[in-house]
Amino acid sequence: MAELDENVDESWGSFEGQCQGCDLFGRLNDLLLCEECAAKLERDLIRQRDWDYSATAFGLSPDDREKLHRQVIAQYGEALELIASHLHCAARSAAHVSKATLNKGAMRRRRKRRD
Ligand SMILES: [Zn+2]
Repeated sequence: MAELDENVDESWGSFEGQCQGCDLFGRLNDLLLCEECAAKLERDLIRQRDWDYSATAFGLSPDDREKLHRQVIAQYGEALELIASHLHCAARSAAHVSKATLNKGAMRRRRKRRD
């Protein structure tokens, strides 16, 4: 009875279903991606400087966004992880649809400005 991942629940999506990115069943966010794929998508958006769609970049200055961009490429490389040709449109439109939700989420987290 050592279920310790209960506390993941509040920060992560409450839907269960098939991930749009890797086809595995599990808990999904509002883009219908599992946590791992959501992180990949986020990095892909940063790689492509799709700032409007990135929850991480929300509210950052252009300088900080560039830093984030360089950091992601230094850490994870330049190749896109999730946004492949066939997925690109789907991910983009999904990201577009829930942009408002993403932004709301980012605001809810009230990211501290580091200046
Ligand atoms: Zn996935």
